[in-house]
This record gives sequence, structure tokens and C-alpha cells, in this order.
Amino acid sequence: MRKVVCLLSGGLDSTVLATQLRNDGREVLALSIHYGQRHARELRAAARVAEELGIAWDEVEAGALNVLLGGSSLTDDSVAVPHGHYADETMKATVVPNRNMLLLAMAGALAVSAGADAIAYAAHAGDHAIYPDCRPAFMDAVRQVLALANWTPIGLETPFADWTKAQIVQRGVELRAPLGLTYSCYEGQATHCGRCGTCVERREAFTLAGVADPTTYA
Ligand SMILES: [Zn+2]
Repeated sequence: MRKVVCLLSGGLDSTVLATQLRNDGREVLALSIHYGQRHARELRAAARVAEELGIAWDEVEAGALNVLLGGSSLTDDSVAVPHGHYADETMKATVVPNRNMLLLAMAGALAVSAGADAIAYAAHAGDHAIYPDCRPAFMDAVRQVLALANWTPIGLETPFADWTKAQIVQRGVELRAPLGLTYSCYEGQATHCGRCGTCVERREAFTLAGVADPTTYA
């Protein structure tokens, strides 16, 4: 049973990925990282998802990274969370500089120390427009780095790289992933705001997938 470290944010995509890896018979070590996000609501969701899936879960408190990641509405209180469609130009305010390189580097470190031979993250095609660190060219570069950076090469698995979020929702339903436990909203309130880019994307994905949305929106 090949062990894999799966970045688990507590959102939809990573929850479906963790479920898929587990159902494939992999030994999954889920990793959630607090990198200084304004709210940790999503990480509480990650803990519940991991418990529901019966997989191991590690949480890393790296909130001090916040000082490196200013200027994004996700990490900087002085930048407002934009409302609207997730593909809008305004959504660039939600880009956290270099975030996935930091998170994948940490996941790679855990993989080596935990005896896993791969890491997985759930970037998908819908992320490509706004987030450079979700694009296939970035993934290929990280694959090369992970192969070079350790005595034991660590693989990078990105099975949703070419998928839409609606396809991920469909897969989640097929796999009986605990979608109702997931949390996406950038605002961090108890209920999803329904207006920020990620709420809009989440709603749209359920609609396009033709699946009932278990989310309560404000
Ligand atoms: Zn929201």
C-alpha cells in the first residue's frame, strides 16, 4: 500500500482527492497547513473530513509565514475579499504569492520523514486563469524539483489538473465523499457568504454537476 501525503485544505477539491486516494487503497496522510490565512474555519473542516474518512491527519501551524504573504485578501486584513465571479480580474486579490510552492515544499518534507513516496494536491483546470501555481507547467516543474531535492524521489500526483470543479463534484458524489463537511468561503463565517469568488465557484459547480448542494449560504 503506497503511502501518500495529501494536502487537505478542508475545501471541496482536496476532500474529493483524499477520498479518492483512500478508496484506491492508498495509505493517506492528510496535511493541513495554517500559513497565516485570515481565518482557520477551513482547517476545522479538514479535521472533520479526515476523521470522517478515517485517515491520518497532521496540522502544521505556520501562521508566522503571514509576514511573507501580504497583499492578498486571504492573508492580509487590509485587503478586502472581492465579491463576484471567480474568473474576474478582481479575484487576483485572492492570489497568495508563492503559496503552493511553500505548501508543496512542506508536504514534500513530511513525505520524506513519514516514509511516503508521493504527495498529492487538488489543483484543477478552473484554477488556471487566476492562480499560476495551479497550472500544469508549474506542476511539472515541482515534479522535477521533488525528484532532485531528496535522496528518495518524491512523486507529485495531480489527478484533477485537467478537470473542472463540476467534474470534481461529480466524482465526489460517486465516491460518497463527505462534501457536506467541506468549507470554501473566503470570509470565514459560520455559513458560506455565497458572494465571494470561491462561494460562487462552489455553487456553480454543484449546479453544473446536477447535484444537490449541501451548503447553507448566508
Ligand atoms: Zn464566500
